[in-house]
Amino acid sequence: MTHTFDALVVGAGFAGAVAARELAERGGKRVLVLERRPHVGGNAYDCQDEAGVLIHQYGPHIFHTNNPRVFEYLSRFTQWRDYQHRVIANLPDGKGGRMTFPVPFNLTSLETAYGPERGRALGGKLMDRYGAETKVTILDLRQSGDEEIRQVADYVYEHVFVHYTMKQWGQTPEEIDPNTTARVPVFLSRDDRYFQDAYQGMPLEGYTALFDRMLDHPNITVELGQDALKRLGLSGGTIRVDGEPFSGPVIYTGQADELFAFRFGPLPYRTLDFRFETLPQDDFQGYGTVNYTVDEDFTRITEFKHLTGQRKPGVTTIVREYSRAYTGAPEETPYYAILNPANNAQYSRYQAEAEQYPNLHLLGRLAEYKYYNMDAIVARALELADQLI
Ligand code: FAD
Ligand code: UDP
Repeated sequence: MTHTFDALVVGAGFAGAVAARELAERGGKRVLVLERRPHVGGNAYDCQDEAGVLIHQYGPHIFHTNNPRVFEYLSRFTQWRDYQHRVIANLPDGKGGRMTFPVPFNLTSLETAYGPERGRALGGKLMDRYGAETKVTILDLRQSGDEEIRQVADYVYEHVFVHYTMKQWGQTPEEIDPNTTARVPVFLSRDDRYFQDAYQGMPLEGYTALFDRMLDHPNITVELGQDALKRLGLSGGTIRVDGEPFSGPVIYTGQADELFAFRFGPLPYRTLDFRFETLPQDDFQGYGTVNYTVDEDFTRITEFKHLTGQRKPGVTTIVREYSRAYTGAPEETPYYAILNPANNAQYSRYQAEAEQYPNLHLLGRLAEYKYYNMDAIVARALELADQLI
């Protein structure tokens, strides 16, 4: 049997879809895409729920990037709805009620926490020390030699970071990779957007429509509901597909440990339980996402209509996210790699194993065991295509 394709892509998320399109279009290759799920899009997949509300089945996805190549590339497959993500923290006010302030913690948050006058004075002091419009990570702020600044740092640590991080990771901010909390630094600004990237928005007709267009190419065949591991064989530096040696590029975007039958042990991940709820009202929370930074068992609530701009009176759908350790059970999805020196070293063993196969390319958040945003994955996929074509 000879294969009817020149390149194999495993997974139809951003990594797989961009790589497939590039190899098909720019490389002129016939590409077979195998996707285990019954749909394309990976974790960015969206669809309408029973009430007709457009939801993100695997959690809220907001596109943002500073990379013009990535933005221009995706703009071939979608128009954009201008959307600037804003998040508020919702927490007990210590007096029996609740309070809210913008996250990332900023000058406005400071005034809510400390009152206008004291908040402004503290903001002035922080700006004198770090500069206006700058971002300071919570771990850096806690290292300050100034007593007053350290008190602010402790406040932010206690009210924004420590409990949320314990819920999300089961560990404290000191125990997890410092780049993780650095994603949400204290921002000495009035800008209350979650991201400051030059390009931000939501695909006008949703992510799935974007993927459908990206994968719609005469050289691309997508097979859904296909576990590639049942069709791939790796041994002695040779990859077999459906029993026959295959020497074309194989771009694998699934878990690296699974590809090699967990021979160096399962890589640790966090998974999420998403609890969706549809409510008979126009608007539930006024914001796309509200972070419950101190109490509750879930980390955050997202209300999709704010993200997507969908107009649908009298009904809205929200999702609560509950994080826990990934056990490898078949119904679980490994959403977040747990980055630390031991786990990274374990991953490196899988990576070294993959390097024994010259035509195998590990690409994506799972396959590379990294905390990548969508834009970073698109950039990586474009770079890999540059190399391969
Ligand atoms: P995935 O999307 O995971 O795609 C991998 C695909 O491979 C999956 O469809 C899987 O089914 C398939 N697959 C795996 N193994 C096999 C196999 N053996 N055979 C066949 N198919 C297989 N990024 C942002 O930029 N902005 C956000 O707001 C944002 N929010 C997020 C919220 C959550 C809760 C999570 C978990 C992630 C978020 N991300 C966000 C990150 C974003 O999801 C990833 O960057 C992106 O999905 C990575 O794409 P990928 O192709 O590497 O992986
Ligand atoms: N974080 C936090 N409180 C918040 C928001 C974020 O402690 O209100 C920490 C937490 O450790 C989280 C990390 O910062 O995992 C990164 O947050 P981000 O919103 O980027 O996470 P994601 O959307 O990728 O889950």
